[in-house]
This record gives sequence, structure tokens and C-alpha cells, in this order.
Amino acid sequence: MPPTPHLRLGVDLGGTKIESAVLELLPDAPDSYVERARRRVDTQQQLGYEAIIENAKQLVLATAREASVNVDDLSIGVGMPGGTRRDGLVKNSNTVCLNGRPFRQDLVRALGRPIAFENDANCFALAETWFGAASAHRSGVVFGVIMGTGVGGGIVVNGQPWTGPMGIAGEWGHHTVYAVAPDAALEASQQLRPCYCGKRGCVEVYVSGPAVERDYARRAGASLSMADIFARRASDPAARAACDVFFDAFARGLANVVDVLDPSAIVLGGGLSNIDSLYTEGVQRIAALVFNDELTTPILRPKLGDSAGVIGAALLPPLPYLLRAH
Ligand SMILES: [Zn+2]
Repeated sequence: MPPTPHLRLGVDLGGTKIESAVLELLPDAPDSYVERARRRVDTQQQLGYEAIIENAKQLVLATAREASVNVDDLSIGVGMPGGTRRDGLVKNSNTVCLNGRPFRQDLVRALGRPIAFENDANCFALAETWFGAASAHRSGVVFGVIMGTGVGGGIVVNGQPWTGPMGIAGEWGHHTVYAVAPDAALEASQQLRPCYCGKRGCVEVYVSGPAVERDYARRAGASLSMADIFARRASDPAARAACDVFFDAFARGLANVVDVLDPSAIVLGGGLSNIDSLYTEGVQRIAALVFNDELTTPILRPKLGDSAGVIGAALLPPLPYLLRAH
């Protein structure tokens, strides 16, 4: 028997924790859902690949039991960092022992159930579009931003993720926001910060927390946390300079996104999304760079917090009746 379409299990597979929840979607009230169960376990990646498969499997089964639902009656979605190569193997995951392994196929085999997979930034964007900050824009285009230790993003079009034929749609963290004149010497380009992806000048090497902390340490000769650097912005010239670079790169990156995509809304997420001035000074700086004389794009605070991962994962299998309802 096919799964009951309104009962969905989402798994948020992170480097230290795996979280799972069973959501009951309400066909007559597409703006809300009921959480039937939620559980969390350690990923235990130090125990290796097989242990992660087993931990994820047992978590799914336990969450289904807690919700008093047969696992065969659930649609299952899994969100995780990184992507999938064309041969089906995991790539770019910070749970490094998954890289190069057929995690998706192995988890499907372990559970004996079909599973929808997507990267965690796309799950964030999907969750905030359906039940979070951008729910008024479900029938438009939403760009979800992750800014924390790294920078990612996801695009939702008409309530569904747009991942692109190569699976890289929304990866704004690795487009370059700084460059040198085409005829400048190679030496000049070396002044741009290098990125692990092999390029220089990527958003991620300016906008992430570690990037700002490194920049401050280089300028001040002392280490401070991102929060402390922002708190000292008015009194400490090194903090002011590091924050200016952060805001400039943030604004250039998102202005480029707006120019290309003109989304209905942008939702900020990740640890840095709680910086209040992103929604004032940050927005003003984007407006100054966009190829238009005004910026009307709402730049929104996230509403779902850490829950966005499991909610987005639960929403991954297609939602035909919800799409009709909207
Ligand atoms: Zn890069």
C-alpha cells in the first residue's frame, strides 16, 4: 500500500547529531502541520560509515514507533550536507566519512523504503517557504541563505526545490564577489582570499563566521568571536574594518543573486542570521548595488530555527495535494 501522503518523516543528518521528526500535514490547513514525534541521536561518525547507516535506520524506526505509525505508511526525506555525484556517491559533505560512499543507496536498502534526499540548504529553504518566514511567497521564488561556518543556499520555485541538472543551484557561497581587472598582473589577484574550492574571492571566504574571525585576528593581532567583533564595532578600528568587509561581501553576493533571480523573498539562516544589522545596514548595502533604483525584495529572518532541517526533509517527497490546495 502506498504511504499515507500526509504522514511524513524527515531526517536531518548532521556531523554531530541526527534528528528525526514525524509530521502530519493537514490537507485542509496547508499553512500548518502537527508534529507527532521527534528524536535525536549522536551521529557517531568516529565509529565509521556503517555505524551512521545503523544509527539513522534505528532513529527512523524509533521515531515512527513514537508517533505510533508503521514506517511503511510514512513518506521519508533526508537532508544532509553536501551533494551527490553522477555515480550516486556522496560529495562535499562535512561528515567526511560519507564522502565517496553510496550513502543514499545504502540507507534505502537498510530501511527497505524509498527515500527522498536533498542537501541541508535546500531543506532549509523548503521549510521556511512552506511553514516559516516566506510562507506568503510559496507560489513565487524563494532564495534561502545559510550563513554559519560555511555559506550555502537553496532555491524554491512554486513550493518545490529547484536544484538544477547538476545539483548546484543556489550555491552562492562559491561565486566570486571580488576580482581584479582583466589586464592586472597575476600578483594582484593573489591579494584576494583563497577558498578551499580552488578559486579566490568567493563569498564564503568573506561572509562566514570563521572568515570574519580570521580577518579580525590578522588586523588586531588578537582573537575574538564573531559576536565580540560585532559588539566592538563602534570602538575598535580592526573590528570595524572586519565587519565592513563582511557587509560588503554579503551585499555584493546577494545583490548578484537578486540581479540574476529577482526572487519573491530571501530568507537568511544559519548562525549569522541573528546579526540584527543584516536586516538594516545589510539590506541598504544590497539596495545600493542592485541593478534597479529600489530594492523591494523582502530580506527575512528565519522563523523555524534548528527545526528547519527536519521539517524541510519531511517536505521533500512531492506534495501534490498541498500544491493544488495553494
Ligand atoms: Zn570557493
